[in-house]
Amino acid sequence: MRLLLVEDDLMIGEAVLELLRAEGYAVDWVRDARMAQLALEAESYDLVLLDLGLPDRDGLEVLQGLRARKQRVPVLIATARDAVADRIRGLDAGADDYVVKPYDLDELTARIRALLRRSAGRAEPVYEYQNVSINPATREVLVDGQPVLLSAREWAVLEPLLARPGLILSRAQLEEKLFSWKDEVSSNAVEVYVHGLRKKLGAALIQNVRGVGYLVPRA
Ligand code: CA
Repeated sequence: MRLLLVEDDLMIGEAVLELLRAEGYAVDWVRDARMAQLALEAESYDLVLLDLGLPDRDGLEVLQGLRARKQRVPVLIATARDAVADRIRGLDAGADDYVVKPYDLDELTARIRALLRRSAGRAEPVYEYQNVSINPATREVLVDGQPVLLSAREWAVLEPLLARPGLILSRAQLEEKLFSWKDEVSSNAVEVYVHGLRKKLGAALIQNVRGVGYLVPRA
């Protein structure tokens, strides 16, 4: 899953960036509205975490621009403005959820997971296929009832596939989810993580459609 973090405060930005990367998300971080707009026009994101008080323009303008371009990416507003009128304005402008600073980091990641789940059209949090059971919210993975640990990078490959079972994602699409701008991309990275996932979860879960990409079967 690839996230855009729009935040001008260095301390908050660094803390949130570190947290989200540890959770296995690929995160691009921009610090003003102009860069946010450029990023949103150039890349496709699974979620935007949007601060409103930005140095050049109001974050609400970024949101309005996004919705005017008919981009449906989920937007979670994170801001110090706590007046009810501000919250209503944000939601009416097309935000999907709202957290007020200072927010709890665990609550932030829970809200992000909920939005990603909802945007994938999935209310049911647990994915089950044959002998494998996966809960993306808790990162609990069971194979034959036994817990299995996945690395953050393995999650980054698995999550977008789990979000839309039956849909093929190309290697390039998975690479995009896996890496942010500043990370180095080795040419066979996706294959390496898929190989690792197959060893842990069994070969049936992630299927390779030759020349096209990968999918997980519908549960
Ligand atoms: Ca700010």
